[in-house]
Order: sequence, then structure tokens, then C-alpha cells
Amino acid sequence: MDTHYKILIIGAGTGGIMTAAQMLKKDRNLEIAIIDPAKYHYYQPAWTLVGAGAYDYKKTEKPMKELIPEGCTWIKDSVIGFEPENNIVLLNNGEKIGYDYLIVACGLVNDLSLIEGLEEAVNKGIVCSNYIDPNYTWECIQNFKGGNAIFTQPTTPIKCGGAPQKIMYLACDYFRRNNLSESANVTFATPGTVIFGVKKIADTLIEVIKRYNIDFKPYYAPIKIDSSKKTITFKIRILKISSVSSIKGMVLKTPNHQSNLSNYHLIYCT
Ligand SMILES: Cc1cc2nc3c(=O)[nH]c(=O)nc-3n(C[C@H](O)[C@H](O)[C@H](O)COP(=O)(O)OP(=O)(O)OC[C@H]3O[C@@H](n4cnc5c(N)ncnc54)[C@H](O)[C@@H]3O)c2cc1C
Repeated sequence: MDTHYKILIIGAGTGGIMTAAQMLKKDRNLEIAIIDPAKYHYYQPAWTLVGAGAYDYKKTEKPMKELIPEGCTWIKDSVIGFEPENNIVLLNNGEKIGYDYLIVACGLVNDLSLIEGLEEAVNKGIVCSNYIDPNYTWECIQNFKGGNAIFTQPTTPIKCGGAPQKIMYLACDYFRRNNLSESANVTFATPGTVIFGVKKIADTLIEVIKRYNIDFKPYYAPIKIDSSKKTITFKIRILKISSVSSIKGMVLKTPNHQSNLSNYHLIYCT
């Protein structure tokens, strides 16, 4: 093995950097290394504002070297394998790094293949997403001159549960300021069962949904996008109350049926 650290962190995103900083705050003498090949760190929460034209994308980008906490070693490489039985990770350059404690904070990957046609739709510029290119979202919002605007999200975990809604409300505000409210049919189709998991916040958001005249469609899981026909297909997940003897009385039945939303002029998928 080439090198050994007391604490080894994979990933210098918000998770990795904050963990290192907090630990060093408690004990300056801790021997910590962070492994990450990226030259730049991106402050992703601000991408919502970039997508709405309210913030400069360049300001969300910071050189990684400025953010690695003082006293922490930065290993500029990718981890390509683990040897947990030997407390070792393998780097792309062939080196092995040992550790006493390992923290894995390498973020989430967008897997576009999970929705049929999504990759093609993104590549053709039919679908925009703040997770992929917030500048392009802003371009799409400005190019929208009325018609159907669909905002949706997948059934998988996403980095920010609120991201699809935040950009939708900002887009609605833009439509309002540009006299497009009457001609815009905005839909929020989500696999979720409620607008938000905390009731107090959900109550407020439902008011916002009403204010912007948004068609809220819970239980809608996107499964297919047809770029040529401009159609998005959802599987509708309906919770059915069944007999008392079943698992806690609730059975999730899927698929129940499908629904197509077509002729959209703007589609946003987180
Ligand atoms: C549009 C948008 C809006 C958001 N809004 C909010 C918000 O309002 N509030 C909020 O709290 N959160 C928000 N989030 C979520 C928040 O930005 C993320 O949760 C956070 O950035 C995740 O940090 P992370 O460290 O887990 O991952 P990341 O920031 O993705 O960092 C992962 C790091 O790991 C590195 N890495 C990956 N693989 C390897 C490997 N094999 N070897 C070494 N390094 C590797 C990468 O280079 C990267 O630097 C938003 C996210 C987005 C996209």
C-alpha cells in the first residue's frame, strides 16, 4: 500500500468538504485526506436560480483547491475500487490508499436510461433539467410563448426533493411577468402522493399551486418520452385501500394505468 490516512473521504462535494471541515474544527491534528478528481466544485442549490435567470452559473463554480479545508490532503484522482477487508481503496492511477475510517460522499449520478427516451430528449434539447444544464432551462423558459409546460420528476431518489417545484414556481412567475399566464397550461406531474411531506408547508404550497393555476397530478411516474411526438407517458400509481387482513390495510398496485400528456412546449425533468 502506498499511503495511509486516519480518515479518508471519497468526494469533495458539499458532503465530503463539510464532513472534513467539521472534523478538523473538533481536532486540528486529525489526519484527513479527500479524494476527488474534479478541478471545480459547484454550488448546486443555486442552479435553481440559474434556471430561472436569477443567478450567474459562473458564480456557482469555485476552484476545488480553494475549498479543501486547511490541514486536509487533497488526492486528485478517482476511486475505482474498494478492498474493505484490508481498509484500502484503489485509485485510477493504480495507487492504493489505506484508512482507519472511510467516508463515502461521491454524490448521485443522473441515470437518464431509467426513463425511455429521456436521454434522446435531453440530447435533442426537447427536455430541460436544472440537474443537467440550468442555463438551458433558462433558455427554454424564455423561449416558451404559451402552451403546455410539464414539470416532473422520477421515482428514484433525487438530490433535492424541492428542485422540480422551485423551478416551476419561478417559471410561473416569469410567465406572469411576461403576460403568458393565460396561455400557459402548467402541469406538475409527480410520482409523489402529496405536494410536500410536511403538512404545514404542503398547505402553503397548495395555495401557491392554486394561485398559479397549476394542474397538480400526484401518483404520476414518468416512464417514457417521445421526442418526435412531444408526448410524455406516465404510469399512474394508485394506492388502494384493501381488506384489514392485508399489510396494514394498504396495497400499492402498479401499474394501474397509463396516461399520456402530449403537445407540450416545455418539459422539465429533474
Ligand atoms: C438543481 C439543484 C437544486 C438543489 N437545491 C438544494 C437546496 O435548495 N437545498 C439543499 O440542501 N440542497 C439542494 N440541492 C442538493 C445539493 O446540492 C446536494 O445534495 C449536494 O450538492 C450533494 O453533495 P454531495 O457531496 O453528496 O455530492 P456532490 O456535490 O455531487 O459531490 C460529489 C463529489 O464526489 C466526486 N466523485 C464522484 N465519484 C467519485 C469517485 N469515484 N472518486 C472520487 N471522487 C468522486 C465528484 O467529483 C464530486 O465532486 C440541489 C441540487 C440541485 C442539482
